Amino acid sequence: MRTIVCVKQVPASNEVRLDEKTNTIIRDGGEAVINPFDSHALEAALALKEQLGGTVAVLSMGIPAAAEMLRQCLARGADEALLLTDRAFAGADTLATSYALFQGVEQLGDFDLLLCGKMAVDGDTAQIGPELATRLGIPHVSDVFSLECSGDSVTVQRELGGCVQTLRLPLPAVLTVTRELNVPRLPSIAGVLRSETVEIPCRSAAQIGADEAQCGLKGSPTQVVATFLPQRTREVVELTDTAALLPIIKGGAGLGTGD
Ligand SMILES: Cc1cc2nc3c(=O)[nH]c(=O)nc-3n(C[C@H](O)[C@H](O)[C@H](O)COP(=O)(O)OP(=O)(O)OC[C@H]3O[C@@H](n4cnc5c(N)ncnc54)[C@H](O)[C@@H]3O)c2cc1C
Repeated sequence: MRTIVCVKQVPASNEVRLDEKTNTIIRDGGEAVINPFDSHALEAALALKEQLGGTVAVLSMGIPAAAEMLRQCLARGADEALLLTDRAFAGADTLATSYALFQGVEQLGDFDLLLCGKMAVDGDTAQIGPELATRLGIPHVSDVFSLECSGDSVTVQRELGGCVQTLRLPLPAVLTVTRELNVPRLPSIAGVLRSETVEIPCRSAAQIGADEAQCGLKGSPTQVVATFLPQRTREVVELTDTAALLPIIKGGAGLGTGD
């Protein structure tokens, strides 16, 4: 059983910093972590390896610092890692991101299962998994909370509008998974020691044979034209004088309006 897991590095807090010129996320600096949903995808892959044998590869597109996140995946039990990192990948929308990851998957070779998180907590689109499946021409199911694999098929469950849908797919297939799937394990001491000696392979667009016109900002048909934080317009007025309070209540100014 060969499983590839797509893992994305995301900001550790909700305070996402945006570049005012390009309207893209500033990914350098700031604390970063593995996208929480991807941690559950990795756990599922490791559990399948324990059950059926085989290998787990982790794949990411990101800044060079994302190599440390991949190292943590190796410490948890992944066998192989690949980081796609290049200025040419910067500013990618989901189409350009799935193109680069598709090229990365091709580099990693044949696989049975490709696992992604349900969504990335910074971009939030939930499009990469389905786009990858489309590019690979294989079936996919999103929002999976339970999975069982046999030699040539996978049976999954997902919640759909209040009911549970059970589906069986032939392998290879792409699944995007939810937090309910499992509890991610911590790295073992042996795993940490082993991962520290490994050099994480980093590849540029040219090295994976990607067409630069389809990567990053150049390859992104959707572009963010403006980003802003919503202005807070609510005002807190402290009323201490009952006489002054009455006309306000009668007039309803600023009270009971939901503002
Ligand atoms: C302010 C802002 C504006 C944006 N505007 C647009 C826009 O206009 N159009 C547009 O298409 N996109 C836009 N994006 C999305 C952005 O380009 C995405 O970060 C990127 O394309 C991946 O999509 P996602 O983060 O939504 O991933 P999702 O599709 O939510 O991620 C699902 C799963 O895919 C995998 N995955 C996703 N990215 C990676 C990666 N880099 N490496 C490895 N695995 C990965 C992970 O397993 C993840 O759990 C915007 C993002 C922000 C923050």
